[in-house]
Amino acid sequence: MQFSFRHRPQIITELAAGKFDLLVIGGGITGAGIALDAAARGLRVALIEKNDFASGTSSRSTKLIHGGLRYLKQLEFGLVREVGSERAIVHKLAPHLVVPEKMLLPLHEKRGLGYWLTSIGLMVYDFLAGVRKEDQRRMLTRRQTLKAEPLLRDDDIKGGAIYAEYRTDDARLTIEICKTAAGLGAVLLNYASARKFVYDQEKIVGVETEDELSHARFTIRASVVVNAAGPWVDELREIDLSRTGKGLHLTKGVHIVVPKNKLPVKQAIYFDVEDGRMIFAIPRGKITYIGTTDTDYTGDKNRVMITADDASYLIAAVNKMFPSSKLVLEDIESSWAGLRPLIFEEGKSASELSRKDEIFESSSGLISIAGGKLTGYRKMAERVVNLVTKKHFGNKVLKPCTTQEIRITRSGCKNVSEVRSYAATVRKILGDLNIDPGEATTLVELYGAETDVIIEGIRRNIHRSPTEALIIAQLEFTVQHEMVNTLSDFFVRRTGMLFFGMSGLQATINLVATEMGRMMGWDSKRVAAELTSLDALVKDATLRS
Ligand code: FAD
Repeated sequence: MQFSFRHRPQIITELAAGKFDLLVIGGGITGAGIALDAAARGLRVALIEKNDFASGTSSRSTKLIHGGLRYLKQLEFGLVREVGSERAIVHKLAPHLVVPEKMLLPLHEKRGLGYWLTSIGLMVYDFLAGVRKEDQRRMLTRRQTLKAEPLLRDDDIKGGAIYAEYRTDDARLTIEICKTAAGLGAVLLNYASARKFVYDQEKIVGVETEDELSHARFTIRASVVVNAAGPWVDELREIDLSRTGKGLHLTKGVHIVVPKNKLPVKQAIYFDVEDGRMIFAIPRGKITYIGTTDTDYTGDKNRVMITADDASYLIAAVNKMFPSSKLVLEDIESSWAGLRPLIFEEGKSASELSRKDEIFESSSGLISIAGGKLTGYRKMAERVVNLVTKKHFGNKVLKPCTTQEIRITRSGCKNVSEVRSYAATVRKILGDLNIDPGEATTLVELYGAETDVIIEGIRRNIHRSPTEALIIAQLEFTVQHEMVNTLSDFFVRRTGMLFFGMSGLQATINLVATEMGRMMGWDSKRVAAELTSLDALVKDATLRS
């Protein structure tokens, strides 16, 4: 069955009919990872997501698959080791989507850790994270640092360091894992909310689910239910009357996006701010994005917004570090805000809280997982599925975790050099089709070798203008193969255009709405409603609401 809205009725019938070994609630990176691991071990798996896949925190991170340098400062060596080795694995599984990115760390005369301490710290980091020799940290003199990044203020730079990180697209990573899980037999549905648990002798045996598009309700029966609802984990524990002991502490983090020419950094930079926090500035295509903040949050979890104060904090930090940039609020082209579902610890402030994951088990059998990182999703999934199999399927012989070997895309590219040569081929083909060859990198980073299907789509739409053919081909692909249901699924989480291509979004929004309406069978009222919802997201992202 294709991973497409066209099969929604069959998927719902399948969910309502059978009994599953495992039902996962939440289609962020945590839930998707668990569904993939469990399906690969031979369990019959279902997953429901109340909005779109990755619509929670998993599309609102800094988009780094990282070794967690800041955890070294907090002396969380185990965490650095785990996420560090995971980076290399996830890169191997999706080399077009988890891309090596060298990070510059400027060092200052009067603040920060100092040159030698940083050098030793990064050496430990490389060791714990198992970084390959050629990628290990390189210390820079003051002159080399200012040459590496001439925009840096030069008065108190003492030197710098270059170290290895990976950047990704969190939403695409989540979607690709969902697609891979579906390919292994898991049944996944977006726009489907868990409303109530169904019990038999006080043990959970299923979940009453609401289809958010038709508002029909149906019950999914399962031997085990895992709550991977990120910031909403405690809400589900409350429904289960099992919210006791430790709970979540939500903190908000925001990012702003400015045009590349407003902050033309030559590479990704991780710099410290006078209040002791560290901030990233990451160039990506035609923009640079900057983040993040870390403040306690108790507001609406379904609409997390960046405030003018959040944006001003980041702008002030950038202007201090890169004085010639002279950024102002009006330079912000887009932004996003997300919630960290951290575990509450008495007396600790937002940035002191551990990023470790934790599993809670209730007497009803509900297994909840919270905390953690995008980077550690695979290990978190392994721990949860180990627990599920041990507790509930002890006598059934199941395979051990194999996700370290399961490619998470239908990508033919096995490593960076194959990705590069594939991108060169795509560049040539796009040029021949009169499409800006520069789009090749974006397409390959989004879709990997499935860009071949997009190219077929461009050829089918060749009678249109190049811009139209390109966007319609992506729309056709994501509607057909990536469970797109709404305009914002397409513009926010499949293509990332709301964040990284605002002008492209504005230029194509009406065309995409019309074409999508035709493909999905929408009436004019639904098309108008879709445009209104997307406009609200654009207003939030551009700070116009
Ligand atoms: P979510 O992505 O929020 O997924 C939970 C899902 O559950 C949601 O989609 C929600 O809609 C769904 N749900 C909730 N209730 C229900 C229900 N009743 N029925 C059905 N579905 C439901 N980590 C990194 O490794 N690298 C980084 O660079 C990084 N940067 C970050 C920056 C910021 C600002 C933040 C906030 C986090 C960052 N993280 C990073 C952490 C990482 O993003 C999160 O740990 C991760 O995305 C959490 O994923 P999740 O699946 O647990 O939660």
